[in-house]
Order: sequence, then C-alpha cells, then structure tokens
Amino acid sequence: MNPVALITGASRGIGRGIALELARCGHDLMINFAANEEAAQETLADCLAVACESGRSIRGGTHRADISVGADRERLIGAVREQFGRLDVLVNNAGVAPEARLDLLEATEESFDRLMRINVKGPYFLTQLAARWMIELAGNGNPPGEGDRRAPSPDGFSPKIITISSISAYTASPNRGDYCISKAALSMLTPLFAARLATHGIRVYEIRPGIIATDMTGPVKDKYDRLISEGLTPIQRWGTPADIGKAVAGIACDMLPFSTGEVINVDGGFHLRRL
Ligand code: NAP
Repeated sequence: MNPVALITGASRGIGRGIALELARCGHDLMINFAANEEAAQETLADCLAVACESGRSIRGGTHRADISVGADRERLIGAVREQFGRLDVLVNNAGVAPEARLDLLEATEESFDRLMRINVKGPYFLTQLAARWMIELAGNGNPPGEGDRRAPSPDGFSPKIITISSISAYTASPNRGDYCISKAALSMLTPLFAARLATHGIRVYEIRPGIIATDMTGPVKDKYDRLISEGLTPIQRWGTPADIGKAVAGIACDMLPFSTGEVINVDGGFHLRRL
C-alpha cells in the first residue's frame, strides 16, 4: 500500500512541485486547492504521469477547500479519509501574500486578518485535525506521560507533518509586515507539534523556502532578478518548486528518521551571515 500525502495549495507553484516529487517516489496524493480547479486537475494528471514514468502506480484526488475555514478543513480531512483511509504525510503549503505591498505605516487590518487566517490559523487547526487522525491510525492514542512509547506500527506507518514557512519568518520586509508576522507565527507550529507528537511516532518539520519562482513572486520578478544577480544568495539563482519538492520528498521518504522539530532552509544559502 502506498503512503498517502495531503498537500494544501497544490494546484500551482510550490505545492505543485511538492506533489510531483511525492508522486515520483510513490505517494498517493490529495491535491488541495482554493479556487483553481483546472490547475489542480492538471497537477494531478501530471503527477500520475510522473509516477508512471518512475514505474510507480499511485492514486490521486483533488479537493477544493479554503484552509482558513473550519468546515472546509473538516471536509478536506474527510475526503482523504473517504478516498484513501489513511494519512501518512500532511504538507501545510497553502499560503498567500498580501494583495498590496504597503509600508508598515499604511498597512491595513483587513490584510493582516486575511494573512493570519490563511497562513496561520488554517495550518494550525488543519494540523490539529490531521494529528488526531494520525494518532488514531497509529493505534497510539495515549497522551504523553502515560508511559506509552511504542515502536512504529507494524506496517511501517511513520506519519509526518511538514510546514512550508518562509525566509520572511526572520527577514524584515517593511512593505509586507503582515506576511512576515504570519510566517514568524507559523514557524512556532513545528516545535509545538513536534514536542507534542513525538511520543506518538509523528515527526514534524518546517521547510523554509527562499526566493522561489512562482505566481506569488511574479510581480516582483525584476527586483529579485537584480538582487540575485548582485549576490543576495550564495547560490546565485532563483529557487524552483522542485527544489522544495525534493526536500519534502526526502523527509516523506524517511531520510531524517532521528530528527523532529527541525527547520530546513531551502534558500540557496540566503540565511548565511556573510562578511
Ligand atoms: P502560489 O503560486 O500563489 O500558490 C498558492 C497556492 O495556495 C495555490 O495552489 C492556491 O490555490 C493555494 N491557496 C491559496 N489560498 C488558499 C486557501 N485559503 N486555502 C487553500 N489553498 C489556498 O504560491 P507559492 O509561491 O507556491 O507559495 C506556496 C507557499 O510557499 C506559501 O505558503 C508561501 O507563503 C510559501 N513561500 C513562497 C515563496 C516564494 O518565493 N514563492 C517563498 C517562501 C515561502 P488556487 O490555485 O486554487 O488559488
């Protein structure tokens, strides 16, 4: 039986890159999207083709859900339960940038609330739902402190939760403070759930992308082209959705079995302090 991955915001961009890499290494996939059904279907078709080329047979589905809405989150997990009956990997990828980049002194509450709903509240409570189900699936529902530290379940069930944050979690961009604050808050999700879920055999990771070529960065392409060519990142190129997908696939395929709560920078070395 293939492991099953749910990827939020997988119709386009980084989520799509993650879906393709997980397909390549034999995961059944639930592709979540917010509005763009055609793109989600195309991603799914491409994933099935990539899996086939790699000699894998996978199953997949798409599901529209706004992760900021509680009923949608319930329906999304329900759809995975109905179609696949298990969940091995949750990838919290869906996220949005502010509709307008505004200086801190002009920023609006509406934009702040929108970003906190989608970038923070959505993944936090989706993780809660997924974790409850993973605990149930592992047959290990005892709360920590009651002495249950049992080994991974016999069929190799080894659940993981992977959250896509951003270099904006620690980089100040005064023209999108709401985005930076949402990503800084999101970064606390991983240590919290890693600490809470380790005794249940669930490992939790954060992947921190740098500047990645997607629709989100389209409007600022010229600025980033210039900064990259001037040496902003030690590895002097744009990141790609496949760069993030490969990091997720490494974790999903158990390449970090003795790590949890870890932050993995996939940013061309942006985070390095240099002199
Ligand atoms: P993108 O190209 O704009 O794609 C966003 C994806 O999220 C789409 O699949 C979209 O679905 C989905 N989505 C948006 N709002 C949603 C909601 N409320 N519920 C469910 N799905 C929703 O963005 P991206 O660049 O791939 O970014 C993906 C993640 O990486 C985000 O969390 C972003 O903050 C983070 N990130 C991006 C970069 C970068 O340079 N691009 C850098 C660091 C971190 P539809 O297609 O249906 O609209």
